[in-house]
Amino acid sequence: MGEEAAVDALNRDLDGKTPLEIIQWAARRFAPRLFATTAFGRGGMALLHMLRQAAPETPVLFIDTGYHFPETLEFLARIEREMGVRFTVLRPAMPRPAFLFAFGDDCHQRDPDRCCAINKVEPLDTWLSTSGARAWLTAIRADQGGARASTRLVEDQGNGLLKIAPLARWTLEEVNEYVTLHGVPTHPLNDRGYPSVGCQPCTTMAAGEREGRWAGAGKTECGIHTFLPRK
Ligand code: SF4
Repeated sequence: MGEEAAVDALNRDLDGKTPLEIIQWAARRFAPRLFATTAFGRGGMALLHMLRQAAPETPVLFIDTGYHFPETLEFLARIEREMGVRFTVLRPAMPRPAFLFAFGDDCHQRDPDRCCAINKVEPLDTWLSTSGARAWLTAIRADQGGARASTRLVEDQGNGLLKIAPLARWTLEEVNEYVTLHGVPTHPLNDRGYPSVGCQPCTTMAAGEREGRWAGAGKTECGIHTFLPRK
């Protein structure tokens, strides 16, 4: 069976399973070569809560671009304390002064794709190149629209990596119901009305989850879900 057919078969097998069941399946099949990423959105917090039940040893990566809100870093420390998660924090290889000298302090405005590539995509790509990871758990959902509208439960990310999106078919309402029902902590800026919280310079209040990022720049993705190296 080719890789595409194998991924199709996995999607058929997982059809109808709950997000928790999908995480349990991923842990059985891929641990210890399984990891998760989070940016602390509500979906990400639901995923983390399920992961604590199903596979608490799974590494959880957080990419510290150096541009996060202080509230985000405080929230990370709180989640470590309250949920017992030990994050693997990835940082850009290029020191901030060198980055600012090379690309200017307005790079995130003039060339956000470059800024994201250096500060967000490359740290994950570098970690992947040495981790031996085979499967990646992410909280992205099809109902977030845009490039995420076609999200499947399992996708071939290339380079021997499968991306698994247990919440792919959940709606934002289902995510909100889950975090409320289980008392899952949520990012304080989400609670103050930001629909999506990323780097401080690129996050605004907006009507939709993805519209609140890079407003007016014609950009809706940092790149880790869209331009990591592919086959
Ligand atoms: S979200 Fe903005 S500040 Fe963060 S890495 Fe991307 S362009 Fe740079």
